[in-house]
Amino acid sequence: MTNPTATDPTLLARIGDHMMWGIYLDFSRYIIAAGLMFAILLVFKSWANSRRIQERRAKATDYRRELLSSLRTVFFFAVTTISTMLLRDAGVIKLELHEFSTWILVAQIGVMVLVHDAYFYWLHRTMHHPKLFRTLHLHHHKSRTPTPFTAYSFSVGEAVLEAAFVPLFLLMTSLAGIAYAGMAVLFFIWIQIVRNVMQHAGVELHPAGWVDSKWTDWISTTTHHDLHHSEGRYNYGFYFTFWDRWMGTEHPEYKQRFREVAKPVVVSRGLAEKLSISVMAVLATSATLHSGLQTMGLSLI
Ligand SMILES: [Zn+2]
Ligand SMILES: [Zn+2]
Repeated sequence: MTNPTATDPTLLARIGDHMMWGIYLDFSRYIIAAGLMFAILLVFKSWANSRRIQERRAKATDYRRELLSSLRTVFFFAVTTISTMLLRDAGVIKLELHEFSTWILVAQIGVMVLVHDAYFYWLHRTMHHPKLFRTLHLHHHKSRTPTPFTAYSFSVGEAVLEAAFVPLFLLMTSLAGIAYAGMAVLFFIWIQIVRNVMQHAGVELHPAGWVDSKWTDWISTTTHHDLHHSEGRYNYGFYFTFWDRWMGTEHPEYKQRFREVAKPVVVSRGLAEKLSISVMAVLATSATLHSGLQTMGLSLI
């Protein structure tokens, strides 16, 4: 293997190529997930309004700030993604594209989500330290009433720290001799953006009774993260409620507030029709995306 240097044109070409694909993929993931959520809330407007968590509504200036700063985040996500690609090209990060058994794939995704949950909780709590908050995390909290577009609304510093998880995680697994499946990383990235958009929807998306069942209560809800935006001092977790409960940082009224907004769904004929149209739209988008990723995105990992 040749030793690439800063003047190596193939290295520069690879950086440019990775950057272009990184921006394209990160932007399309964000805009598809946030845009789809925004459209669903618009189509099911009366249902969404009955489950709105805050009375306050986000203003046009909030949407503009969130969209613009999310575009900046996409750029920095792509810059950070370059390190993953170059480390993979250099053989430091081990990513395998050949067939993995379904069980290994599920296990790898599960481990990555669990580790990311811990990374997010502790990074998030650290960024709430008075000496760091203003520089790193204040920008995200300008969205007191979150919208689906809040998902990537970060300062530059927070965007880099959030994006650093994937290369750091893959570096650790590679050093431990574990080759991660490229497909597992792809699934993880999609789970991350979908959950991120759900947490910022401003409307409780989880069914009534979610916090009262031992089978679902450990998975976070929209109300859980929304309370963090409206009150700040509680609920630092992301996918799960473990860390907030272990560390005593869960909002004392979380379950009560969830029960107040998560009303049982009454399926009328009009709602059923909208639901079937939405399911078809989501399936059509997924199919288009899947074929697009097969021809373009998968070649990255
Ligand atoms: Zn915060
Ligand atoms: Zn947030």
